[in-house]
Amino acid sequence: MKHHFSIIITLMIFIFIHTTVAAQADTGKPNITILATGGTIAGSSASKTDTTDYQAGSLGIQTLIDAVPELNHIAHITGEQIANVDSNDIDNHILLTLSKKVNQLLSQNQQGVVITHGTDTLEESAFFLSLTVKQSKPTVFVGAMRPATAISADGPMNLLEAVTLAASPQAQQRGTMVVLNDRIASAFYVTKTNAVSNDTFKAIEQGYLGLFINGQPKFFYTPAAPIDQVYFDVSQLTNLPRVDIIYVHQGQDATLLNAAISAGAKGIVIDATGNGNMPKALEEAVAKALTKNIPIVITSRTGAGYVSNKKQGISSGFLNAQKSRILLQLAIATGANLTQIETYFDHQR
Ligand code: GLU
Repeated sequence: MKHHFSIIITLMIFIFIHTTVAAQADTGKPNITILATGGTIAGSSASKTDTTDYQAGSLGIQTLIDAVPELNHIAHITGEQIANVDSNDIDNHILLTLSKKVNQLLSQNQQGVVITHGTDTLEESAFFLSLTVKQSKPTVFVGAMRPATAISADGPMNLLEAVTLAASPQAQQRGTMVVLNDRIASAFYVTKTNAVSNDTFKAIEQGYLGLFINGQPKFFYTPAAPIDQVYFDVSQLTNLPRVDIIYVHQGQDATLLNAAISAGAKGIVIDATGNGNMPKALEEAVAKALTKNIPIVITSRTGAGYVSNKKQGISSGFLNAQKSRILLQLAIATGANLTQIETYFDHQR
């Protein structure tokens, strides 16, 4: 009896010490919140070989977290489902919710935030957050090109790397980043360059910030901000103005530009040819729109380089059409005039 009693006491002491040590070790782990929005990373299909005809945004955040138990070795993970959609259906309200939420979390006790997102428009949301979250702690966007049900799905490793990055002290002062395919990119510049390949997120001119080696982030440079970095306070905004993009091609006239203005666009992005060129008929319509004080930003459909041709409108510098649209929306929403908008697009002019 006495013997049993001492075994029980020893066992209780062991459990006490063990749980205390575990709790202490636990408190040492950083807090990371994963905000889920849908996309292929949460996609599923009945077939393991299906990598294109699946249902995006069908698995919940807890399923994604449960699939990668290693996440819990790195951080205290909290998951929150903000939306569960194809990223083509991310709208202004979701963007504003994400930005406000991330600002709130990073101002509190979270070390970093990871956002799971469909890859099609990931660069737009990531750019939006890079312009509206001014924090030293990191925000990391992550997606996948293969659904969770596919052989060699890329989502679990991408998610693990995104959480590792968000928890890393080296990620401080680097703003919003994108992680896919072992690469770390600046949300400011990165774009989706390939419709189907895992190796799709690139910044053609600016390159990557770093990469992952054996599960650990390795950066090429110390932290630096993009030359045209600006910040907007969206805490009081509940919506964003309509800004449309017109894609330029041979034989184009003024029809689409005029339709956009009639539909209520408060700003227009013209995705022009080469260094900001377009057919004469469209050029004349742009000149007319400018007299009505509608800001028009000129980008290049070539996909890389720098738009310097400033015949009329505001040239976008290094930004592509979809990123220029986001910046123009934020500039208009916060009451910028034409001169201010111009400086937002290119500080170096
Ligand atoms: N079209 C879907 C989306 O963007 C799937 C693409 C992806 O996530 O890779 O949400």
